[in-house]
Amino acid sequence: MARIPVIAGNWKMYKTRPEVKSTLEALRKLVDGVEGVEVVICPTATSLATAAEVLEGSTIRFGAQNVHWAAEGAFTGELSCAMLLDVGCQYVIIGHSERRQYFGETDETVSKRLTQALGTDLTPILCIGETLEEREADRVSDVVLGQLKRALAGLTEDQISRIIIAYEPVWAIGTGRTATPEIAQEVHSMIRTCLEQEYSSELAEGLRILYGGSVKPSNVAELMAQADIDGALVGGASLDAESFAQLVKY
Ligand code: PEP
Repeated sequence: MARIPVIAGNWKMYKTRPEVKSTLEALRKLVDGVEGVEVVICPTATSLATAAEVLEGSTIRFGAQNVHWAAEGAFTGELSCAMLLDVGCQYVIIGHSERRQYFGETDETVSKRLTQALGTDLTPILCIGETLEEREADRVSDVVLGQLKRALAGLTEDQISRIIIAYEPVWAIGTGRTATPEIAQEVHSMIRTCLEQEYSSELAEGLRILYGGSVKPSNVAELMAQADIDGALVGGASLDAESFAQLVKY
């Protein structure tokens, strides 16, 4: 079965509600109805309701940038899966490297968030990737496959089949330094092979693996031409409607 490509925008801590509204309105004009690709925008939590309003009836979907692992409780500042679903989210990014780097995210908390999200209708976008030091120390497969296996531990094959994986080398995020298509393909293929060995070829063949790290209109086509790259998770180049639309129409 062909894997439907996903182009997802991570708006990080950018854009107020009026800015979200105008960018999404512009985006609707440019990409509404484009077929053969799943288009997802993940704005900040304060703008999720705005996204729901502006994207009513659109083919553009939206999601959140994080979720808590408990159903509810005394967790000041956190958001639950039920809250994200309530506002209309279909996706949630889990384990982004900025969460791992600045907010104490670990493989254990990533696994807990994933398990919780998979107990609902949310589609998790699981981020994994190595730092520059780890790459230079020849530890890419160790680190990336280690993160993958620890995130998926305890999940059934059925649950895993609902995840979208995003390989995001930390050294390429927001740095303007993209992995070459060959480097990205090498790691994507390594991830798919690992899924085949640990689970099954059906699972490995069906899972979407996105690349993330300074993807822009000028490099998206060569990345997407790689056999195991099924889309992109995009930060900087997703903030502008024109540039994100070019990525969607790669
Ligand atoms: C990201 O935030 O997931 C990302 C890949 O950012 P950028 O495209 O800006 O490198």
